[in-house]
Amino acid sequence: MFFRSLQNIGSAAIKQKRYIQSSSTLFSEERENPVWRTIRILAEDLQFRKRKYPVTQEDYDLVVSREFPRHVDIVIIGGGAIGTSIAYWIKKFTNYDGVSLIVLDKDPTGKKCTTAISMGAMKQQYSLPENVEMACFGAEFLRHFKKEFGAEAEINLNPAGYLQLASEEGAQSLIDSLKLQSEFDTRSVPLSPEEIKQKFPYIDVSDIAVGSLSAEKQGWFNAWEVLTHLRKKAAKIGAQFYTAEAVDFVAEKRSDIVIEGMPPGSYQTVNNLNVKLMNETKIRTVQFSHCIIAAGHESVNIAKTLGIGVAPGMLSVPLPIEKRKRFVYSFTSASHTPGVNSPMIEDFTGLSIRREGFGGMFLVGAAPHPDVAPPSDSEEDKTAFFNDVILPRLSARIPSFKDAKLTGSWSGDYEFNYYDGNGIMGAHPYYMNIHFATGFSDQGIQQAPAVGRGVAELILDGGFQTIDLTRLGFNRFIVEKPMFQVKVS
Ligand SMILES: Cc1cc2nc3c(=O)[nH]c(=O)nc-3n(C[C@H](O)[C@H](O)[C@H](O)COP(=O)(O)OP(=O)(O)OC[C@H]3O[C@@H](n4cnc5c(N)ncnc54)[C@H](O)[C@@H]3O)c2cc1C
Repeated sequence: MFFRSLQNIGSAAIKQKRYIQSSSTLFSEERENPVWRTIRILAEDLQFRKRKYPVTQEDYDLVVSREFPRHVDIVIIGGGAIGTSIAYWIKKFTNYDGVSLIVLDKDPTGKKCTTAISMGAMKQQYSLPENVEMACFGAEFLRHFKKEFGAEAEINLNPAGYLQLASEEGAQSLIDSLKLQSEFDTRSVPLSPEEIKQKFPYIDVSDIAVGSLSAEKQGWFNAWEVLTHLRKKAAKIGAQFYTAEAVDFVAEKRSDIVIEGMPPGSYQTVNNLNVKLMNETKIRTVQFSHCIIAAGHESVNIAKTLGIGVAPGMLSVPLPIEKRKRFVYSFTSASHTPGVNSPMIEDFTGLSIRREGFGGMFLVGAAPHPDVAPPSDSEEDKTAFFNDVILPRLSARIPSFKDAKLTGSWSGDYEFNYYDGNGIMGAHPYYMNIHFATGFSDQGIQQAPAVGRGVAELILDGGFQTIDLTRLGFNRFIVEKPMFQVKVS
């Protein structure tokens, strides 16, 4: 009886544990002679012991460089919200030692990523079912954040709602999107201009045809805090983070693999990534089974090192990502209006407006077309852009903002998918062990939880298990099936 229960527990544990789907094999490599390796490590240890504490940068570099693995199951390039979320989910689905996983990010501060400067908007007003489902899951994940990450995991979630405003031109798209959203229980409702005025008297509705308000599960949060806690937890459950730049891949010709349409013997696989650790000049090579490229707008440069977008045939189709500037301005307004219960507002003129704290401070974000953006990132140009372009639109929508006093600004480049404005997830059709998770344009933060879970499912289970995100794969660029997200104008 006792033996049978043990057997049951054992087989249940085996069933629950997920293993990596090995779409590729690790090839043999030249390894350091074990005797010399032991002597080298002992010598380094002795050197290390002689040093006085506190630990110096040199000591730290030595430890990091010694620990840096020569082979892992999974390497993730990019430690922003997307890469870190993938690391978290893969480690959550496997046990501590189940899958070896490293995350590489070249930024030692961790603060230069786009994630760190996001406005943290959380909305479900999308026109593609995949985006609505991902947003719903993201909202649930953030609502229960403390349950998973502990009581101290404060992400300043503000579920004050999200109000989308459409002009006459964009009204039908907004109504159509609302119909789709109702299938997913988002509780978004249409509002006439009169209803908007009644609920939010501070809004000028003279040029508004219709609005969509979702007061539940939507609002905003602190994206930097989400990233910090995801990273902490991922590291705790076994993901290893390194300050390192992914330089390029080592391709290997495979004469044993024949691909239709390609000359025999020309197919190449990649299982080795060249990496430069911070404070090192030499290049190290890490062997991997799967690699996930989640490097924001820089993913396109990494893709090029694989020939994607530059080589002929199947590889000629580029990763359609370019960097796009997005600006955020903080300002005060003496009127303290909109007040505490005001939703985040997305205006058809391209502005996103929300409160920041409770002291009459507000944020306005804009991703202008490159033709009308400030010519440079200098404070002068950004201020002029605020006064000449942003403020007139802002005070036209909310007249009490006429007195807006600019208190700060920042800008950053996000990963704009110029093909159809949506995320790109999953394996490249040529390199089956190279996966993309990028191009989420201006919706990356709130989609990060669902993207992380989806990529983990793809790699561990060989296919999506929860939300079917197949249509967001790279293949759509090859078969020319865009997945447009309707922009409400
Ligand atoms: C001003 C602004 C406001 C935004 N507001 C919102 C919002 O309200 N809601 C929302 O959902 N989205 C918003 N976005 C978009 C969102 O921030 C992005 O979609 C999201 O942060 C993308 O995350 P990521 O992990 O893909 O990229 P990132 O956060 O940029 O991370 C990519 C990382 O890859 C690293 N990297 C690059 N190349 C290499 C290499 N060769 N080797 C190693 N590491 C490398 C970089 O150092 C970087 O840390 C906003 C964007 C901006 C710019």
